[in-house]
Amino acid sequence: MMTFTDQLATELADIESAGLTKRERLLTSAQGPHITTSQGPALNFCANNYLGLANHPEIIQAAHDGLDHAGFGAASVRFICGTHEEHRNLEKEIAEYVGTEDAILFPSCFDANGALFEVLLTADDAVISDSLNHASIIDGVRLSKAKRFRYANRDMAQLEEALKDAQGSRRILIITDGVFSMDGYFAPLEEICDLAEKYGAAVAVDDSHATGFIGPKGAGTHARAGVADRVDILTGTLGKALGGASGGYVAGPQEVIDLLKQRGRPYLFSNAVAPSLVAGARVALRLAKEGDDLREQLTKNADHFRSRMAHDGFDLLPGSHPIIAVMFPGEDGALLASKIADDMLKLGVYVTAFSFPVVPRGEARIRVQLSAAHTEADIDACVDAFVASRDRIQAEDSK
Ligand SMILES: *Cc1c(COP(=O)(O)O)cnc(C)c1O
Repeated sequence: MMTFTDQLATELADIESAGLTKRERLLTSAQGPHITTSQGPALNFCANNYLGLANHPEIIQAAHDGLDHAGFGAASVRFICGTHEEHRNLEKEIAEYVGTEDAILFPSCFDANGALFEVLLTADDAVISDSLNHASIIDGVRLSKAKRFRYANRDMAQLEEALKDAQGSRRILIITDGVFSMDGYFAPLEEICDLAEKYGAAVAVDDSHATGFIGPKGAGTHARAGVADRVDILTGTLGKALGGASGGYVAGPQEVIDLLKQRGRPYLFSNAVAPSLVAGARVALRLAKEGDDLREQLTKNADHFRSRMAHDGFDLLPGSHPIIAVMFPGEDGALLASKIADDMLKLGVYVTAFSFPVVPRGEARIRVQLSAAHTEADIDACVDAFVASRDRIQAEDSK
């Protein structure tokens, strides 16, 4: 009989032989546009460091001060003795920034999405979810007893069908990512809100790839789409544009926040976010709010990358988000994308290739993420590496 670990070894071997093993490269420097990995220095084009705040001196100073002032950790969940006044300050500032009554912090956005559906929805209710929503939404929805409906990515006809099928439920909640992370596509929030109003549903948006840099003042996709007062609930992360440390939140009406504080399991049964991270995140939030110059630079950088890559004959998914998918379609695309990404790292440019099952079969891509901290020279070096690696590998493959 196979032992427990032998069975796991077989599973690992299957992952490896399918070419799906994820290997972690070790960073030996802080996060930023220029990093050092165990393989040497590299230009980094795969972090969620959209505003370049991950290594910002004011944030680091605030976190240091937070350590000195409030100690290393809360050693308690929030409701027992883990709520520092800084937690409440940050929650109120998040709510004010995204335009809701209040907000509740979680250890991560994964946890925020893990709490939301179970608390708000029962078997009498319905939840309608975009097919490309983040894994944490999928898991969070699974935890609730609500009836589940799914619509194909951004397909408003299917959403309307689901809303019709869900009629008769006590409450209906539509949940979508504000930005889909593999494509950089925005959710059609205006149409979603129109349908929600027509069929009496509430709307929740996970703005993890938006808060801080999308829409006026970076408030998010709801602000960008002009539906800030029509989206009911937002979830988001402190682990991407807002400094890149950790923490997540739900922002929404007071009743939603109050009920999550009573019943949200990842809130009730997991340690409070460390005070130093809260102090750093408060400064990150302020820098984001005041960061029109950073957002302008980020937009300029994304535009520059898109136009140079298109000029050099690459196939990009259209759009304006700093997530830019460089497509390698077809049967051989997955191998080509991964060879090019590996080769680019040798040239000192770090990008990541994605293939099935992370993206649909035949739609392999290298996902590039721009930051306000990239210079034009960084971006030009990235494009030059794309061209050099593609040309070299295509020449090799055609031999
Ligand atoms: C990154 C991400 C999360 C997870 O955020 P963490 O705070 O790192 O747990 C959740 N939802 C979406 C859409 C994300 O992109």
